[in-house]
Amino acid sequence: MSMFIRVLGFARTSLKSTITKRDAPVRFISSSRTCFQEEEEEAEGTANEIVVDPAKDRRQVIPVETSIRYMLSNAYKQTYGNDPVWKVYRRNHKGQLPPRKTRKTCVRGGIISTGNPCPICRDEYLVLDYRNVKLLEQFISEHTGEILSYEKTGICQRRYKQLLVAVLRAKEFGTLTLDVPLREYDYSEWYKEQKQA
Ligand SMILES: [Zn+2]
Repeated sequence: MSMFIRVLGFARTSLKSTITKRDAPVRFISSSRTCFQEEEEEAEGTANEIVVDPAKDRRQVIPVETSIRYMLSNAYKQTYGNDPVWKVYRRNHKGQLPPRKTRKTCVRGGIISTGNPCPICRDEYLVLDYRNVKLLEQFISEHTGEILSYEKTGICQRRYKQLLVAVLRAKEFGTLTLDVPLREYDYSEWYKEQKQA
């Protein structure tokens, strides 16, 4: 496909040069790479860029500080309420059973490449970082203190790896404390007969 576009671009540039300048430079013919670069420069000049849906554009990096403020904002509250971000997400798949693993990534080349991006990729203001504790806590089981599986949360493999790193760093930095409460069992309920005996 890219080859086809390149050939097309070359044809266009050579045609244009024959019409406008007559004397086509030899380098256009000798090297397709030079031709491609020329075309890129031309595109910049004439605003001939590929139009990207702004909702799918992820090339702008959101700083963690913004994400932390977002987690406390009204906009976040309106969107998710008190539920974790993955609560209402549903994976799309063929057949009855979902594939064991989630997709490799939702973002390719800074642009979302799927129609159903995972809970973290779909919201550009959710940044996985050891300082963003509010977000990390949503991916940790309150009963066991373990990181929830991607099968449950539906996040893609790239985000899952980032999550593992962020949680580990948070633990080392001490921003995330994972204290599973110690349960006090009343054993007399189980051993009533023994007690009486
Ligand atoms: Zn994703």
